[in-house]
Amino acid sequence: MAATSTRKPRAVVSGGAGFIGSHLCEALLARGLRVMAIDNLITGNRDNLRSFESNPDFEFKQADANHGIFLGGDVRYVLHFASPASPPQYDANPIHTLKVGTIGTTNMLGLARAKDATFLLASTSEVYGDPLVHPQPEDYWGNVNPIGPRGCYDEAKRCAEAFAMAYRRTHHVDTRIVRIFNTHGPRMQVRDGRAVPNFMAQAIRGEPLTVYGDGSQTRSLCYVSDLVRGVLAALERGDEMPVNLGNPQEVTVLELAETIIKLTGSKSRIELEELPVDDPKQRRPDISRANKLLDWEPEVTLEDGLRKTLEYFRTVV
Ligand code: NAD
Ligand code: UDP
Repeated sequence: MAATSTRKPRAVVSGGAGFIGSHLCEALLARGLRVMAIDNLITGNRDNLRSFESNPDFEFKQADANHGIFLGGDVRYVLHFASPASPPQYDANPIHTLKVGTIGTTNMLGLARAKDATFLLASTSEVYGDPLVHPQPEDYWGNVNPIGPRGCYDEAKRCAEAFAMAYRRTHHVDTRIVRIFNTHGPRMQVRDGRAVPNFMAQAIRGEPLTVYGDGSQTRSLCYVSDLVRGVLAALERGDEMPVNLGNPQEVTVLELAETIIKLTGSKSRIELEELPVDDPKQRRPDISRANKLLDWEPEVTLEDGLRKTLEYFRTVV
């Protein structure tokens, strides 16, 4: 068993105990790889690993990507997903967020270089900031406020992309950059602070749903299984240029709150609260590049995805 196991290629996933990272580990194991998840558990949770932790091809290492990752043995893929990802989380940890996007990224790129592995960066739609071009194609350079409260996350991810390109140009590391748009699904932390977990927990508890601003700002939400399929396609068939991964089905935040109330069957009402500083007014991915390059598009509709996520939240709220 062990002898067969060691011949399988190995993937290292930073942020592997997080929401997306844990689904990614599971998908990589299902693809027949050995997987090592590295996580310092700042926003992640070992419970996310429960359904596959006993798989002999899986290994968990509690470590900080900012402190350097030195591993023995071969590594075929390095996927860098470590980073606080929700606005309240990166607002609470701005220096850590900047470090994991910059120092953490160079550490994971260094690991990929040392092992001659393919490196994939989890970048974000936040590189477009509060976009002046709509929907957002990959060749839009964005509209980011570097000194606002979101700057620690947006600029760290922009710097991470620059590092990926520099390691490719200088050290010929085989790199991928995926720009992930708002994604939801099981294993999001209840107290994560993003719209979907907040609204679902509030609706299940019968509390008011806290819509920030007048709720006219838009987002486009992707279900996690679609996103993970896109990440794997980018890893296997992608190139060095950034590729957007997200669901172009755009809704206002008010519509999102109303849909969650409807799906929950809740009597909760909606309460308007102050809009956070620099909150992007609109967001929708142009996914034509992912479609052409990776033959990828989302399959799960907004309502179907929200129903699946809700099933999970009913078990943890
Ligand atoms: P998450 O908070 O659930 O997962 C992030 C994981 O990284 C956590 O387990 C956390 O403990 C870990 N981590 C953070 N800093 C670390 C460090 N220094 N060393 C080791 N581990 C560390 O968030 P998520 O939504 O799963 O996001 C995963 C990645 O995808 C992030 O890089 C995020 O920027 C990116 N992303 C997510 C979305 C989304 O909508 N979920 C959108 C765009 C980009
Ligand atoms: N939002 C909201 N109420 C909440 C949490 C978030 O109205 O309880 C809004 C937030 O202001 C933003 C949108 O929902 O306009 C998406 O926020 P989220 O934190 O999920 O992700 P973002 O796209 O801002 O990173």
